[in-house]
Amino acid sequence: MAKKAKKRGARAFPKGRHPSLDARTQIDDLLGDVAKGRQHLIEHLHTLNDQFGALSKDRLAALAQKLGLAQVDVYDTASFYAHFEITDENTNHAPAVRVCQGPACRMAGSAKLLNDLDNAIPAPCQGACETAPSVMIGRSRIAPATAQTLKATSSVPSISAVDTTPVPHITPELERAGLRGMGGAGFPVAQKWKFLADDGRDRVLVVNADEGEPGTFKDRYLFETEPEKVLRGMAITAHALDVRDAFIYLRDEYPHIYDALHEALPKLDIPNCRVHLRRGAGAYVCGEESALLNSLEGKRGQPRDRPPYPAQSGYLGRPTVTHNVETLYWIADIAERGEQAYADEERPRFYSVSGRVKNPGVYRAPASTTVSQLIEMAGGMADGQTFTAFLPGGASGGIFPARFAERAMDFGVFEELGGFVGSGALVVLSDQDDVWDVARDMMDFFAHESCGKCTPCRVGTEKMVGLLQNPHENEDTIRVLSQTMQDASICGLGQAAPNPVLSIFNHFTEEDPS
Ligand code: SF4
Repeated sequence: MAKKAKKRGARAFPKGRHPSLDARTQIDDLLGDVAKGRQHLIEHLHTLNDQFGALSKDRLAALAQKLGLAQVDVYDTASFYAHFEITDENTNHAPAVRVCQGPACRMAGSAKLLNDLDNAIPAPCQGACETAPSVMIGRSRIAPATAQTLKATSSVPSISAVDTTPVPHITPELERAGLRGMGGAGFPVAQKWKFLADDGRDRVLVVNADEGEPGTFKDRYLFETEPEKVLRGMAITAHALDVRDAFIYLRDEYPHIYDALHEALPKLDIPNCRVHLRRGAGAYVCGEESALLNSLEGKRGQPRDRPPYPAQSGYLGRPTVTHNVETLYWIADIAERGEQAYADEERPRFYSVSGRVKNPGVYRAPASTTVSQLIEMAGGMADGQTFTAFLPGGASGGIFPARFAERAMDFGVFEELGGFVGSGALVVLSDQDDVWDVARDMMDFFAHESCGKCTPCRVGTEKMVGLLQNPHENEDTIRVLSQTMQDASICGLGQAAPNPVLSIFNHFTEEDPS
């Protein structure tokens, strides 16, 4: 009996790594009295990573203990995101030098920078294509004119008072205007709002500010130039949908915008709605709505199986609607100027234009604007460059020869060719670029960013990287593999990954300079 009582009273001895006293003290000192749900985990990982430059296993174990989470959950999340480096030792690291390997940066010599800079690692597109090549050290964007002259850039935008008054009858107005989502899929906004479950559960609005499609930087531009209008669109949407919590999920590569929002959001008064600011952690797949929701919940950013759809069961099981930054901008614009002005301007949008043009940047233009016209708006081709080809929708929208440049950069135009404009990222190539090199870079990117959840994408992208060493010899195999990836991948990443390769096979002839 006595023996049994002793056994019952014995303290449970937790399995797994035991954090050192040092690590526990450091975590306690750093985090203090913090929110403990798993949905706060990525914020805490950022705090550790900012402080120590990396995440040591000891400190991760201490974090798990402090938050009352399983070590496997903390490790699972920490190991998924590119901006977190896990180390064996508790040493403090200098932040990594991340050299962008997006298409515009490659054209601007980022491969050489990768060799020249100390402590440099390759990074996916950092959303600064107009000032390529882009390099970040920790959270600071720097201007690498040469390897020796690095200096801090990116000023913090100031955000003045935001109008948060409701707009009556905005849903039918958006419907008549035909506003579509600007994140890439182009789904009609009003229709999305109608799908949202209306059963008394608290609703959630997510602002997807994690633009990661290589060549896309319009959302950063909008936050830098007209942040009040984006936040106005968020307030209008929150009112219209009776939202209780709004989350802004911001690219970690935009710390200057984070600082501005961090200061401005507490002053934003949207009745009955709390606004939260969250940092992404370097995962392209989190542009996919349900992957983003998992990330907000502190999990690996992997897409969810559907149904249920986020409109029924999204963030923590609550009805959730997600909008891209630019979409909110146009909601505010239509509320302010009316649907007729939007129609008169022929459904305008913001295009990110980069690559071999004179003035890369963001251009506001009607949806009917052609590739040629956008190149003209960007000052024409850069000196000494002859236009040969272009990517209409970043990495996943395909690669097309210059003879298709009279087509509009609009939804539904490039689909018949096996491509799309998506988020409106036009990357312009010249006679100095080899389209197969670009396709190989894109496939490397997809293989790196595949979340690993489904085999066609996880294995398919890796296999494709190998096959692309000799694309013409391997064309039959590439086509079969592409079909499998398109048919059977769970999300848009795996489905669209073959687009650049197939569009070269299907549309470049011997007459096309490539
Ligand atoms: Fe993950 Fe790729 Fe499958 Fe999407 S398609 S779920 S990114 S493995």
